[in-house]
Amino acid sequence: MRYQNTYVKLDTRLYHKQLPNPLDNPRIGHFNNQVAEQLGWTEDVDLMARWVDILGGQYVPAEFQPLSMAYAGHQFGQWAGQLGDGRGLLMAQVLDKNNQLQDLHLKGAGLTPYSRMGDGRAVLRSTIREYLCGHALTQLGIASSNALGFVVSDTKVRRERIEAGAALMRVADSHIRLGHVEWIASFAPDLLGEFTDYMIDTYYPECRDSDTPVLAFLQAVVERTARMIADWQLIGFAHGVMNTDNLSITGSTLDFGPFGFMERFNPAWINNHSDHSGRYAYQNQPAIGHWNLNIWLPHFMRLDGVTRETLADCLAPYEATFMQHYQQGLCRKLGLPHQRESLGLAFEWLTLLEDNLLDYTNSFRALLALIAPDQHSYEQQLLATMTDELNPEAQQVWQAWSMRYLAQIQQVSITQAIEEMQTSNPIYVLRNSMAQRVIVAAEQGQFEELNRVFDLLAKPYTRQDSAIDLDTLPPAPYAPQMPISCSS
Ligand code: AMP
Ligand code: MG
Ligand code: MG
Repeated sequence: MRYQNTYVKLDTRLYHKQLPNPLDNPRIGHFNNQVAEQLGWTEDVDLMARWVDILGGQYVPAEFQPLSMAYAGHQFGQWAGQLGDGRGLLMAQVLDKNNQLQDLHLKGAGLTPYSRMGDGRAVLRSTIREYLCGHALTQLGIASSNALGFVVSDTKVRRERIEAGAALMRVADSHIRLGHVEWIASFAPDLLGEFTDYMIDTYYPECRDSDTPVLAFLQAVVERTARMIADWQLIGFAHGVMNTDNLSITGSTLDFGPFGFMERFNPAWINNHSDHSGRYAYQNQPAIGHWNLNIWLPHFMRLDGVTRETLADCLAPYEATFMQHYQQGLCRKLGLPHQRESLGLAFEWLTLLEDNLLDYTNSFRALLALIAPDQHSYEQQLLATMTDELNPEAQQVWQAWSMRYLAQIQQVSITQAIEEMQTSNPIYVLRNSMAQRVIVAAEQGQFEELNRVFDLLAKPYTRQDSAIDLDTLPPAPYAPQMPISCSS
């Protein structure tokens, strides 16, 4: 691997150098070969032979320089001060095959000076959810952290019950969160200039071409965040806990806890059981992204040339960037050109899904059967299931809508429409019930279901023989929601 450990060269107040605390008897959970190849990990005999020991904290290769990063954050809208990283270590930074810098970060590595009341560990259940979600989003084409693999162990961890300790080697283009800057502003404000230079040089070097690199950088963070959240909305992803400490400065999805993928379409859906007010409901995500950036940006006023006015200019493009990306994506999901007529149809379609509690993923995919039935036998089944769920009144709405939709489709190239729809409407997303089945089996020591689901999510846009009906089955309408909490 091509190591490029640069964070460790920053001021030592920003982190604590330390080794992982080994797990007891670490064993294979899963290994992501694709990520390993991308990192160059597979070319190193020692890393390949000892990956379980490395993830288990038993062995630290000489080139690694592990450290825990200090960061702060706003949790559920409240300033929470110093809060992370209480259980993860930045192990190394490497240049991958695309010359992209990647962090290797071991989550669940044991106590750090920042652990507060926590035990520094992660349980198997939440590790599996994080592992599968990073993989799912990456394969869906959404900017996200991913993982090299994870291990399970005999270390006992107390949550609501006693669970098995696990550790995940997370791979992300950065582990710097909005909360890092918040920490610096509170606890080491003299470091803000140096840290901002580091963020620009490392993650946004193109901003050096601007006359005002800091402002260019801040605007770029705003725009990347807006695009990431637009991608979430389009795929039906709810992050669940969009605190400022869980948002990366690179606009890559980070920290998977109480996340979920939309099933029966309800914009007000709250996946996180602990989110009583619905702050992080699906439909609030775009506004919360804005809220987070708005509370984050003023810290930079400490720097020369940054004023309230110039910051307002950096934040202003947020909404337009989000809208542009979201609306374009929505039209693409329907195979239509990005124009007003298409958007009108798209919003009526979403209303139809909402009024009839139809499955978000399956319904979009079913539209392929409408425009090209001959090529889409699976989608024909989805369409039949969907229309079966409509009452007579909704049937009429659907009939009228589909006639207008087909008329619009006639205006464009069908081949292109099919291509767009097949590559933006997945067949497989990580439904909570799917993750739950994997977890129940894994907690019994059975990892076949994990392997199967992992492979399925590797090609989310392609029908696969290994799929079972449960992979695509939404819960019954009005069924009580599976409780997904912050416990991890
Ligand atoms: P989260 O709400 O999961 O994003 O966690 C917020 C912060 O709390 C993170 O920076 C973690 O490092 C820390 N944390 C969460 N769980 C634990 C734990 N079991 N032990 C120590 N720190 C933890
Ligand atoms: Mg220190
Ligand atoms: Mg977090």
